[in-house]
Amino acid sequence: MKILAVGKNYANHIAEMKTEFDKFSGEPVVFLKPDTALLKDNAPFYYPEFSQDVHHEVEILIKICKEGKNIQEKFAHKYYEEIGIGIDFTARDIQAKLKANSYSWEIAKGFNGSAPVSYFVPKTDFLDLQNINFSLKINDEIRQEGNTSLMIFKIDYIIAYLSRYFTLKQGDIIFTGTPAGVGAVKVGDKLSAFIEDKEMLTFLVK
Ligand code: MG
Repeated sequence: MKILAVGKNYANHIAEMKTEFDKFSGEPVVFLKPDTALLKDNAPFYYPEFSQDVHHEVEILIKICKEGKNIQEKFAHKYYEEIGIGIDFTARDIQAKLKANSYSWEIAKGFNGSAPVSYFVPKTDFLDLQNINFSLKINDEIRQEGNTSLMIFKIDYIIAYLSRYFTLKQGDIIFTGTPAGVGAVKVGDKLSAFIEDKEMLTFLVK
């Protein structure tokens, strides 16, 4: 399986990063994480020794249910049946150096354990996938809150766009971008991610 991720998909996060949206012709920023980034079943996240500034980014996840490429946006909904929530851990200090040199972000985004994911629930549990509240608490304090209505690129567009370049396969997971409120985590923190009021993911930083 592979993990695909979209960056800069919520205007309030773009603003907090003091970055710009449309440098690249208004298309999504895309990066990948290897399968070794995946953390499942509330497994702990081990803080990497190469960074002093690992940030949380809570994001809604889409799980691909069948293979497809060059998917038309109007048919994209046929390629996913479940959604979840995850953390796009980012070594912000390393990413800043990479950005300064216009290098790709992979080591800042794709390192071991950088993609904790929840269990997945049927999309039919929700009336409108583009109007879902989600949030992250750290040590039981709210740190990030978002609503999928605020995505710049909507889920079906993201699937169509990614499938132009990458054949999507059953089991692939797409991270759809983070809202404002990103910040550093530290050893000992407990992270808990929610879709609406349901706690879907909770784990410790060790
Ligand atoms: Mg992200």
